[in-house]
Amino acid sequence: MSAGIYLHIPFCKSRCSYCDFATDVWRSSNAVERYVDAICSEVRNSKFEIRNLADTIYFGGGTPSLLNPAQIEKILNSVLSEFSVANECEITMEMNPATVTPESLAAYRALGVNRASFGVQTFDDRALKLLARGHDANDARLTFKMLRDAGFDNVSFDLIAGLPGQTLDVWQRNLAEAIAMSPEHLSLYLLEIHEGTPLAEQLRSNRQPQPDPELAAEMYEVMLDRLSAAGYKQYEISNFSKPGYESRHNSKYWTLDPVFGFGVSAHSFDGEQRYANERDTAKYVELIGNRASTENYRETIDIASEYVFLGLRLENGIDLRQYRERFGKDLLARYRDEIELLRDSGLVEIADDRIKLTRKGKLYSNEVFAVFV
Ligand code: SF4
Repeated sequence: MSAGIYLHIPFCKSRCSYCDFATDVWRSSNAVERYVDAICSEVRNSKFEIRNLADTIYFGGGTPSLLNPAQIEKILNSVLSEFSVANECEITMEMNPATVTPESLAAYRALGVNRASFGVQTFDDRALKLLARGHDANDARLTFKMLRDAGFDNVSFDLIAGLPGQTLDVWQRNLAEAIAMSPEHLSLYLLEIHEGTPLAEQLRSNRQPQPDPELAAEMYEVMLDRLSAAGYKQYEISNFSKPGYESRHNSKYWTLDPVFGFGVSAHSFDGEQRYANERDTAKYVELIGNRASTENYRETIDIASEYVFLGLRLENGIDLRQYRERFGKDLLARYRDEIELLRDSGLVEIADDRIKLTRKGKLYSNEVFAVFV
């Protein structure tokens, strides 16, 4: 089973109002340089015995495209010096509009970055302001053109539905523009409100209209129809691609392949245990400097249970024969009552020795997954 390598770059130009990721507003280039040295050091002194060939590398954040090509090269070299990396490795970098230049994109490509995950979120300038994204829709259009000009032929857009005040009409225009730009992959999320974020506070104090779950559900349905008609295949609840452009790295999370994460707040799974690193960037760098462990969480997981709710995220669902072979148990017998209830409610379907979510089940997926946790 091949592995993925995840590298977390926490810096952003500013903090978006809905974000609860481990991010730091870019302060000084010295701090960034220290962080780059720290993550390289963590990779070089990895606690993981990684015997698997790595066939995906993923720079996530934060905004990895704030690092200059020399810094990306330094990190990539540390990975290449420690791990066996497949020749055809998928190397993804998350990028935000207005953080790259034609020169930096050409340099990333020359280093082997062959996939861009591009944080568009919406083409509506009013919503971009509300989200405090720090760029406008035109920046996204220009950056996408730069990506194409630099030769990026595997680009994913992130879009968010269900924003406060977003109408169905605005969402449809977003979808239409995204489809017209024809990226190879789309990740489309319903807005989640995280406690402690400025957006949560704005909603609590009624400074923004409350999200409407029924409208969000309608947006999801429209999205399924529009993307399918445009030739995108849904392969996971929130992910759509043209044929052959599924994210190899993200697919590892849903099929429980090992992923080894480095950097502040990075998560790892070695096939049995999950790990997470310290969430505070300054503390992470200090721990690395002191040669101390950066781990702040470790858990041995119930793989047979996670396999179910992660597998149900996938369009093809779970192969019941494979489940029997891997875990020596019959899934339908193990969860007989729960599955009967879900089937009666029209949330899952069973056919051809597979169980998968129905269209309605995708809308209520969190409720379905809760049954198996
Ligand atoms: S760019 Fe992404 S990671 Fe950075 S603050 Fe905004 S949502 Fe969070």
